[in-house]
Amino acid sequence: MDRAAALTEVFMNDLSQSDAEMPNFQQAVREVAQDVLTVEKNDPAWAAAKVLRRLAEPDRVISFGVTWMDDAGEVHVNRGWRVQASNAIGPYKGGLRFHPGVTLDDLRFLAFEQCFKNALTGLPLGGAKGGSDFDPNGRSDTEIMRFCQAFMAKLAPHIGPDLDVPAGDINVGPREIGYLFGAWSDRAGIYGGALTGKGLSYGGSEMRVEATGFGLIYFVQAMLARQGRDIEGHRVAVSGKGNVASHAARKALQAGAKVITLSDTSGTLYAPDGLTAEEITWVEDRKAAGDDLSNPPARFAASFREGEQPWIQEADIALPCATQNEIGEKAAQAIVDGGYAMLAEGANMPVTADALRVLRKGGVQYAPGKAANAGGVAVSGLEMSQMSHRRFMSAEEVDDALKTLMSDIHDRVAAEGQGDGTIDYARGANIAGYRRLARAITAQGVL
Ligand code: NDP
Repeated sequence: MDRAAALTEVFMNDLSQSDAEMPNFQQAVREVAQDVLTVEKNDPAWAAAKVLRRLAEPDRVISFGVTWMDDAGEVHVNRGWRVQASNAIGPYKGGLRFHPGVTLDDLRFLAFEQCFKNALTGLPLGGAKGGSDFDPNGRSDTEIMRFCQAFMAKLAPHIGPDLDVPAGDINVGPREIGYLFGAWSDRAGIYGGALTGKGLSYGGSEMRVEATGFGLIYFVQAMLARQGRDIEGHRVAVSGKGNVASHAARKALQAGAKVITLSDTSGTLYAPDGLTAEEITWVEDRKAAGDDLSNPPARFAASFREGEQPWIQEADIALPCATQNEIGEKAAQAIVDGGYAMLAEGANMPVTADALRVLRKGGVQYAPGKAANAGGVAVSGLEMSQMSHRRFMSAEEVDDALKTLMSDIHDRVAAEGQGDGTIDYARGANIAGYRRLARAITAQGVL
């Protein structure tokens, strides 16, 4: 066992016993520990401060019941959480997710990862994540509004512009942010930037909706540029049909790539010659209507493959943009066999630890979500400063700033991940994020 592996085993054993029940959290911490513990041990101040151990223990986990009434007058009870992981470099910041499958394990891992992602942006943003096991599918607009108001009634005392600034995530889009912001503002009695992803009419930023998907493509372009290549003409397979997937597809198409797939839980829409803008719009419309991707119009060249994942098709670049752990060993082997040169994560932790080993062995260059999908939170950071300055940027200004932020994140990560002729982006992201956090945590003493 090498030094990093030995340190990681000791470290993982020292985590709280209750965390053993949290496999996603354990996986996320283990992956970071393997890369950063040797860095920590080489700095006496960071080692003495036990920086990583402190980051693996959230500052607080807030858990609450959410009681709301449906349109028929029936009362429902859900559970809500906010995990405030670290505010060492800025107010707690991270999305809210509404999904029946949400667990505290997911939110712990996402909040932990968010600390590193936010550190990589170079902006003053701490790490958090939250959500509820509420299932919005099939719910009316007024039910969604009542749920958001009930959720915020419990969350409001714990958030604020300088305290904790939630944003959207899975199933929490502009509509939900509007209801959540209205409920917070009403309770707090002030108008302030306690949430990001707001509508343009009440303090939102241009380009926030597009930022994660567009930023992912800017990151991939920076990776390719380093190899003297361009995305134009490359075949790109994208999974998912949500916010991140559709905007990544749109930006890749604009940049001259062939986007051969989008997908959802029902299957994959496959276009060997690349999806058109009209086909991407159709996917967005299906998502908005709550429909799946089956039965595309007969005039489309794209066809629907029920139950298939995108990776069955050969391509050059894989962009998983759907959900966590969507790529297991079998899918990873398909990516290797399909001749993919690169995989960049639009979703958070879409690749399992076993699948990552397969990708690495197969020589697929891998960019982790904490770097590649940081565009969303970066523009959220810009939204926070626009809101407090009461001065708003144009779409062009935000897009230019996003390009610079993604290129800077790429360069920071590449500098730390430099190996013998290759770049280990996962290692680079972990170490670059860790160093920024370690400096701040150590400077602020033992708290
Ligand atoms: P959305 O809710 O907009 O979309 C998610 C889509 O993924 C859904 O349409 C869903 O399909 C699909 N999906 C879920 N599971 C699978 C699966 N196993 N295979 C194929 N498709 C699946 O979410 P977002 O686009 O906002 O988020 C996607 C990912 O990106 C998440 O991991 C999120 O944490 C991450 N992320 C999002 C950011 C943002 O700004 N939105 C920022 C950074 C990361 P169906 O309709 O069938 O349920």
